[in-house]
Formats: sequence, structure tokens, C-alpha cells
Amino acid sequence: MDAAGGSGGVPGGTLALVPTMGALHEGHRSLIRLAREHADHVAVSVFVNPLQFAPGEDFSRYPRTFDTDLEICAAEGVGLVFAPAAGEMYLPDRQVGVCAGRMGTVVEGAFRPGHFDGVLTVVLKLFNLVRPDVAVFGQKDAQQLAMIRRMVADLDLPVTVLGAPTVREPDGLALSSRNRYLSEADRGTALALSAALREGARHGRPRDILGAARAVLDQAAVASPPLALDYVCLVDPATFTAVPDDHRGEAVLAVAAKVGSTRLIDNVVLTLGPS
Ligand code: AMP
Repeated sequence: MDAAGGSGGVPGGTLALVPTMGALHEGHRSLIRLAREHADHVAVSVFVNPLQFAPGEDFSRYPRTFDTDLEICAAEGVGLVFAPAAGEMYLPDRQVGVCAGRMGTVVEGAFRPGHFDGVLTVVLKLFNLVRPDVAVFGQKDAQQLAMIRRMVADLDLPVTVLGAPTVREPDGLALSSRNRYLSEADRGTALALSAALREGARHGRPRDILGAARAVLDQAAVASPPLALDYVCLVDPATFTAVPDDHRGEAVLAVAAKVGSTRLIDNVVLTLGPS
């Protein structure tokens, strides 16, 4: 095994894995293309992971478009699509999982208890099953990307993690499988997330950045339909703790909100310097 190349399980070259929950869109395609630049073969996993959804979240109605996903993967030159059933991934008497630690309880984790435990558990299982040399994740889910980097470092996993930039619609809306839940009116209100990030990014000090972003979100909170804000925060990209007002260097401006019954997240990475 591995006589001809990478440390993964593919004879004749290196393997990159792009984990997804399916309902593939242009954002996923960009991850696949980045994966192809960094490995000889690309595998895509399609698995709506029940462990990362809390009761009452959208697990049962999450969009499932497997036939189209396969067509997209074929068009993008993906060599392997791994799409296990939930019963194949988890033993009925499963006991052991990954604990995301304190970092899994802040920001997004504060609103979705247990979410990052579920994400890290499935990602570790996917790494063990597929044995990629490289794994590609989107900056769109910035805390997920940071947590996966943390897991790889803390557990000495033999995988190189690559982050890929967020793909957006021309009007700024970040692509998401959940965008298909949005009505026309919802979509109008949802533009406030990316608009808030853009407004925030025009400033240099954390309190000004957050003030400008909040002003946009406050306006959207009285729009029709209204935006219901979960959080807007400016955090360290590696730890997801809030940055101080004299912070210099990179920071993630992150936002999460509900529009109608659809919960959306977005973020932008800023570099703060002397103003
Ligand atoms: P999902 O299928 O939503 O779990 O996403 C699978 C991967 O695609 C994750 O690494 C996401 O961060 C990434 N992703 C989702 N939306 C986008 C986007 N608009 N741009 C780039 N990557 C994305």
C-alpha cells in the first residue's frame, strides 16, 4: 500500500477530501477545485451528519439532492464520492466521540450546544475512513475550520487542512445550501448579513467595526420580514475569543441571524492595523 506516493490510501498519488453535507453549489465546487490543485485525486463525502443537528434544527428537512451532487462531482473530476447512510456511519450503541472543548462552546457553539462535538466526530471518522493527505474546508464556516485545525493539532492527525475563501452571489449573499429555504422577501432581508460585514470592514478599530455592523443589522431587525440576530462579534481567528479594542492583526467579524425559519451565518477576515 502507498508504494507510489502519499501517506493516504490511494496508490499512485495523494488524495484530498472535501467533506460536505450535499446540496452542492458553487461554494462546494470551489473547494473541489482547490483540492485538485493540492492533490492527485479528490474525494467528496456527502453525509448529512445527524450528530451535528440539535433536536428542533433542520436535519429532517435539510436539502438532499444526491443525483445532482453526483453530476457536479463528475463534472469537477472527482474520483470518489463517499455517501454513507447514517446507519453505516454510527453504531447503534456508539459511545465515544470527540469533545470540542471550551472553544466549541463559544460564538456559534453557544447557540448550538454539542454542534462542534458532532462536527469533529464525523470529520475524524471521515479522515479515518478515507485517509486523505489533504482536507479542504470553507472559510464560510470559520469556527468549524478553526476547530478542525485545532483537532488536527491537538490529536496529531496526519492531514493538511486547507481553508477556501467564501463564494458569494453578486449581491454579496454567501452561498449556502440553506439559501434555497429563503423566499424572495427573506432573501432581501438576508442581504443584511453580508452588508453588515462590508460596513464593518470599512473601519479599523474593533468598537467602530462592531458599531457599523450592528447599525446595518439593527435596520434589518425592523425590516419585513425582520432579521433576528443571534450574534455579531469580532474574534481571534484561531481561538474565537473576542479581540480587545487595541487589537492588531487578523480578526474574524462573524454574524449569525435567522430570517423567517432559516438560520444563516457569514463572516469576513479583517486585518486590523494602526488607523
Ligand atoms: P456544507 O455542505 O454546508 O456542510 O459545507 C461543506 C463545505 O463547504 C464546508 O467546508 C463549508 O465551509 C464549505 N462551504 C459552504 N458554503 C460555502 C461558500 N459559500 N463558499 C465556500 N465554501 C463553502
